[in-house]
Amino acid sequence: MAMPTKYIFVTGGVVSSLGKGIISASLAKLLQARGFQVTVQKLDPYINVDPGTLNPYEHGECYVTEDGAETDLDLGHYERFLGMPTSQANNVTTGRIYQSVINKERRGDYLGKTVQVIPHITDEIKRRIKLLGSHHKYDFVITEIGGTVGDIESLPYFESVRQLKWEMGDSNTLVIHLTLVPFISVSGELKTKPTQHSVKVLLENGIQPNILVLRTQKELSIELRRKVALFCNVDYDSVVQSIDVSTIYEVPILMQKEKLDVTVLKKLGMNYEGQPDLVPWKNFLKRFQHPKHSVSIGLIGKYVELPDAYISITESFKHAGAVNNCHVDLRLIHSENIDDVNYKDLLKGLAGILIAPGFGDRGIEGKILAAQFARENNIPFLGICLGLQCAVVEFARHILGLEKAHSTEMVIKTPDPVIDLMEDQKGVTEKGGTMRLGSYPCVLKEGTKSYKAYGLKEITERHRHRYEFNNRYLNDFENAGMIASGINPDNDLVEIMEIPSHKWFIGVQFHPEYRSNVLNPHPLFVNFIKASIS
Ligand code: GLN
Repeated sequence: MAMPTKYIFVTGGVVSSLGKGIISASLAKLLQARGFQVTVQKLDPYINVDPGTLNPYEHGECYVTEDGAETDLDLGHYERFLGMPTSQANNVTTGRIYQSVINKERRGDYLGKTVQVIPHITDEIKRRIKLLGSHHKYDFVITEIGGTVGDIESLPYFESVRQLKWEMGDSNTLVIHLTLVPFISVSGELKTKPTQHSVKVLLENGIQPNILVLRTQKELSIELRRKVALFCNVDYDSVVQSIDVSTIYEVPILMQKEKLDVTVLKKLGMNYEGQPDLVPWKNFLKRFQHPKHSVSIGLIGKYVELPDAYISITESFKHAGAVNNCHVDLRLIHSENIDDVNYKDLLKGLAGILIAPGFGDRGIEGKILAAQFARENNIPFLGICLGLQCAVVEFARHILGLEKAHSTEMVIKTPDPVIDLMEDQKGVTEKGGTMRLGSYPCVLKEGTKSYKAYGLKEITERHRHRYEFNNRYLNDFENAGMIASGINPDNDLVEIMEIPSHKWFIGVQFHPEYRSNVLNPHPLFVNFIKASIS
């Protein structure tokens, strides 16, 4: 009989932003590198049904899965660490939980019962957790609980974890609690009291954590670890140090040194002999940390104050930089600061220019100027989604002479709608989950730079947009030197435009950044960096 799926819960205490997502992904990596099938899930306690309707300033980037789910950015980390796709089931919010419970109530499924947080909401949470383990596909499901223990909105999640532990027992479930051990500089001491308090709050919720991961700036002494173990009622080897490091990609290595994988396997009564195979991972790290060259790339966007808004793009550059033995010096440039007086000064010295995805017209002319600057100066260019659309508008205005060309997202009544609303978007009024989302196929034109980058004729890439290249203008563009090098074979939507006479100028309607991972950097990013170095 197949081994039952083991459920590991990762919770957080003391403060938020301690890196639960990275700890979850790192543990998943270690277990995967021992030959197990692992997936990671994120439960978010907010009431939005998904983060698709959230402004990036709220929680950073919205990540998109193959099956078209708009999800928390932590899923991007899971995919980048594991090199495996996640899905809608990997991200659940309170909004989604309530939505399904309320739908059931409206259908009459509860047969006249009063619908309550316990058991109905907690049952739905437990169902969503167990769903991932239900097909015997995974040996481990690691579930990260968003927020911090003690938050009002997290309570039903902790109660669900308590119930699952009780139902499935200690050999099938495990709770890892991540806390902060602050360093008080005046006394030169590390303090464990916040951790003790945080574990107390967990205990109030009926949960005794099995493993504590302590985030710290300084090495934890043996005495400190012993004290935490004693006061928090965990084994000495279950106190794990997570010291600040310069890159998230070092964390799996540190967790291996701390034997987190061994402790987890031991506690679940599993074979813990041998070592995870981290050779490819370490090779990546070596190249990433000891680059031979450096290249400066400008990322033009309007959310640059919050770098998390572009996290998949910044990580893609790390992966692509490493295979090129190159440090990517990424300069985040605010598109609202670019104007026709300063743009040359602002953009000069960049070896490559990337225009980021986005919505709405704030900063749009700055992006269009950046596309023009890249095109006219033969600077390698990658435009992603809105970035492609800006490059198309720029080309229409300055090469085709359509001075007022625009996207109808920005100017509804433009005389030259070179970017226009997709046909099947025309009747759409609801905002949530209604864009063109998820993976679609694309056929590449042989001989183009895109084809060369992928080395393939047919690809699939993930999407998140409502507007598209207007095929009415395609002949004019191609005759003037900007060609469609990638087309959706099912509906002829243009997926990639490029300028063959340029050193490297590619705009894509899809999001390559969602598919780049540590061991499989994305070919477009790899080739963009290559072109920028040469
Ligand atoms: N706003 C544009 C659209 O909806 C581009 C979207 C994006 O960059 N993700 O088509």
